[in-house]
Amino acid sequence: MSRLITWGAAALMALAANAALTQDTTDDKCLSPAQVRDNDVARNAGAMGEGICISQLEIEENGLAWRFTVAENTTHAKGPTIFLLHDNEQESFDTALYGIRKYGGKLVAVEAADSREFKGQDPNRNFGTTAAATAPCSQMRRKPAPIFTGVLMDLQARQPGFILTLHNNANGYSGNGGSGGISAARQSAVLKGMMAPNGGDEDDAILLAGTKPFDQNNEARKTVAKLHKQGVNVIYEHVRPDRNDCSFSNYVVLNNLGTYYNIEAQHGHGAQQKRMLDILMGLERVRVRDKRVQ
Ligand SMILES: [Zn+2]
Repeated sequence: MSRLITWGAAALMALAANAALTQDTTDDKCLSPAQVRDNDVARNAGAMGEGICISQLEIEENGLAWRFTVAENTTHAKGPTIFLLHDNEQESFDTALYGIRKYGGKLVAVEAADSREFKGQDPNRNFGTTAAATAPCSQMRRKPAPIFTGVLMDLQARQPGFILTLHNNANGYSGNGGSGGISAARQSAVLKGMMAPNGGDEDDAILLAGTKPFDQNNEARKTVAKLHKQGVNVIYEHVRPDRNDCSFSNYVVLNNLGTYYNIEAQHGHGAQQKRMLDILMGLERVRVRDKRVQ
């Protein structure tokens, strides 16, 4: 049986009325990996059978028919929610699946035919529920996007309360001969890179975000110290309402929705991304539910 839910005006009203998006996880409502025509699922089919419920959600907003794949650990439903916004970032999907099998919870992946953008819209520039908040967002083509934003936020677990997303990035950054924009060796007006002793590659880092400058953000400074101690590079993003870019980090931080973590790893660095996830889960005291998962 297919599990397609189409969101429209009625669903938007339900969201406005604060109705939670409930997910039925009984087995007959779950899709088999073969039923989902998706390369990420096909590549991981062996690990997505028993104990993992796959479903798909569809919404339509601003002329875009978005589709999200949700994979939930049915044995251990309690656990982190891991958001995957870019469909061309393979290791992030694999790391997220590793994470939900090991720690419980679920992953939520935007489907974009293995591309970064979906029909010209970067999913990670599509967060925002009001015209006023999204006004500065030059990369959000049609705005605002209350359904897209609301459906994704409804999938976020209440416990653990942090927001977690995974990304892969290109090698280096334009300033040092590389091609990426994300690097712990880079400093910009918005992003402050902080290499750890034994932190490894500059492109493998955990990204934090806050509305205060880093020097004034005591919580972030403590987190950086802990991550550096364990050999994890950190990038701090200073978010300001007038510079809102409608990315996930900006939406979470500007709306006070909880601590934001983005585990960034260079394309191909799956092992490094899993290592950083394990360290972060340890820091957040998220319990290992299945020690057999490697
Ligand atoms: Zn990405």
